[in-house]
Amino acid sequence: MRVRASFIFSAIVGLMSISIGCGSKMSSSSSSASISWQFSSAAPELAQAGSGAGFVMGAHVGIPQVQTAAGAVLATPKIKVITFTEDSLGTPLKNMVSAFAASAELTEMVSEYGVGAPTVTTPTTSITNATTGVLPAVVSDTAIKAYISANFSTGFLGAADDQTIYIIMFPSSIIVSSTATAAGDFCKQGVLGFHDQYVDGSSGKKIAYAVILHCFDFPGLSSADTMTTTTSHEIVEALTDPYVNSAPAYAGLASSYSNWGVYMPGLEVGDMCELFQSSIYTPVALGYSIQRSWSNVAAAAGHNPCVPTPVGAVYFNAIPVLTDTVSYYDPTSSSSTPITASGVTIAVGSSRTIALQLFSDAPTSANWTVSAFEDPNMTYTHGADLSFSFDSTTGSNGSTIHMTIHVLRQDVYWSAEPVWIVSTLNGVKYYWPLLIGN
Ligand SMILES: [Zn+2]
Repeated sequence: MRVRASFIFSAIVGLMSISIGCGSKMSSSSSSASISWQFSSAAPELAQAGSGAGFVMGAHVGIPQVQTAAGAVLATPKIKVITFTEDSLGTPLKNMVSAFAASAELTEMVSEYGVGAPTVTTPTTSITNATTGVLPAVVSDTAIKAYISANFSTGFLGAADDQTIYIIMFPSSIIVSSTATAAGDFCKQGVLGFHDQYVDGSSGKKIAYAVILHCFDFPGLSSADTMTTTTSHEIVEALTDPYVNSAPAYAGLASSYSNWGVYMPGLEVGDMCELFQSSIYTPVALGYSIQRSWSNVAAAAGHNPCVPTPVGAVYFNAIPVLTDTVSYYDPTSSSSTPITASGVTIAVGSSRTIALQLFSDAPTSANWTVSAFEDPNMTYTHGADLSFSFDSTTGSNGSTIHMTIHVLRQDVYWSAEPVWIVSTLNGVKYYWPLLIGN
């Protein structure tokens, strides 16, 4: 199951943080990564007119590529949207899916992965749950699968089809649960939606489906915008990783980028961008709030990997050069086996200096500022494990600056210290993760 979970407020940095978990197993909001917004209300830094001649992007460590495990994507996808008559958002959500499926934004997000524009159909009627009670007031994920399969024979959903994503938009009146009782209420676990897959018993077809919940709203977003943003995330991921269990596709990173796995709520293309506030936006032509997603093409070219990017926006960042493999413990796992990831090894009580490579994909209006902070929501001890100093806190494309990290104590939660490197210019912020192991 790939889950889109909640946002968390960070009192440490005073900014809203978002955490929308999408793991192959259920992850609760408390276990998900979260960081302050990539940029808050700042307009994007724009390329400097007339100054691009001869521009050469500074050397830097590559931006991660989301790898495929070679499972199929949906090359000619179909989407069936299932709503409830008693849900006032049902019709707007159906309309959103149709518009998003035909949008330039979706094409930009998924075409590089071999996904075509989806054909959207809706069942001839919505579910009228209030009067027919076809689904109980508490619906388990197991019951959702059974409901979908049952309606392949009733005609409501047509014949079982492994090229269709079945999206059920639940109203707030129905509790969707990970268990048979309300105790597993996804909303209370901070989950806004998920996509998953199962095999239909009678046809033997792999069935990809997504569930969108009407739980709570993102800060600053309406219920409708929260749900359309979640819907876009789940559609993009269901298209690029439809058979998450039996034949996973785009849902992983090379081991050299395994440190990202500490921070990210999942490694599907939606997950990789969801921490950043700048990923949520409303394209003018589309008119619905959606979430940007990870582009391997943009990443390989040194551009902002979360696409579509604002027209003319400059991407800039500071990437640490890592040579160590560090180990940590997953605090959400009962395993006593440490996990290894790329990072920097520094013994408790010691310091070490590392190089940060600054680069941008076009000239910036000025030098940007580089700083670092311990992840306020991931560090159990909340920001007192490390201290940082820099030989320079500003630079521009092509600069190398040096950051000295002193480890005061080990984070008891991870047995390692998750850090974000932040590049800031005119209020625009871009982030890079850095894991310190001891
Ligand atoms: Zn996801």
